[in-house]
Amino acid sequence: MKAGQGTENGPQNLARDLLKQPGPVRGKELGVKAAAGVYTAFGLRAEAEPIQPGLHVVATPIGNLGDISFRALATLAAADAIIAEDTRVTKTLLAHYGIATPLIAYHEHNAAIVRPHLLEKLAGGAALALVSDAGTPLISDPGFKLVSEALAQNCAVVPVPGPSAVLAALTVAGLPTDRFFFEGFLPPKSAARRTRIKDLAAIPGTLVFFESAHRAASTLSDLAAVLGPRHAAIARELTKHFETVRRAPLPDLAALVAAEGPPKGEIVLLVGPPIEQRQTLPGQDLDARLSRALKEHSVKDAAALVAAETGEPRRNVYARAIELSAADRRQSDSR
Ligand code: SAM
Repeated sequence: MKAGQGTENGPQNLARDLLKQPGPVRGKELGVKAAAGVYTAFGLRAEAEPIQPGLHVVATPIGNLGDISFRALATLAAADAIIAEDTRVTKTLLAHYGIATPLIAYHEHNAAIVRPHLLEKLAGGAALALVSDAGTPLISDPGFKLVSEALAQNCAVVPVPGPSAVLAALTVAGLPTDRFFFEGFLPPKSAARRTRIKDLAAIPGTLVFFESAHRAASTLSDLAAVLGPRHAAIARELTKHFETVRRAPLPDLAALVAAEGPPKGEIVLLVGPPIEQRQTLPGQDLDARLSRALKEHSVKDAAALVAAETGEPRRNVYARAIELSAADRRQSDSR
């Protein structure tokens, strides 16, 4: 399909968004490699190098427009078209950086119709960039089917990594980061939510949840009811003006949010690993025993020794020995 044609044949959104572009549509056809585009940063105009054909999965800022990478800008400028979850949101980003690449809307309501056309363009050699409204595409955002079907037809799929609310929240929550589990959004209804939280309870790592502000209080209350007094954090409006991170045991955090009312803006909830793993066993100081043993033995031998001494399952003791040894190494490195 030629850019600017296809109103009758192609999906309406695709055609409409291509036609609506204020800037030049580079190349006569999507699928024929277009001339490199331009972008502007710090008042300087840069010409993007051409990019390889395929689907380029581009992360965009989660609030602060300055968080975009030079490679992301160059990719967006050089792509034949940008596949966007909400073209209005992406237009703001493109306008900020002087990028005039055509946009194609791709969201849950039109994906089934638009996807075959996108795959056809990719098969024809187009270089398409995929973005979501904010952060990394596919992470609780559209794109998984497009990526998997592009791979199935042997198209190159190229990551252009960058902002992600999951990783931004993890880095500032003050909870263990050596292992974490990203759950995305929990079910909206309390009964189903509690069932799911129970399924997650034994995971030996930090749990990360997306949540809407108006459900924060009820979700925190369910998390506290099922998981007890684990360490937790609520990361709000990351990279934005009202960025706040609150850290407290789950019941305290739940009480705080219930008292204050729904937090304003976007939030990520984080819950630390089961407390038993971080504390001593009843009557036995597992950590102290392991720390002593680790001074003289390898992690494996120390774990075997302490498992034999305490009767604790070897797997658990070994997991804890790895954590202690890693923490010890980190401490030495930071000195
Ligand atoms: N794909 C995106 C990413 O990689 O960050 C996430 C998209 S998901 C639909 C949107 C959710 O991410 C929000 O409901 C919120 O939980 C979280 N989120 C996005 N931006 C955020 C921010 N600036 N601060 C806190 N949470 C944010």
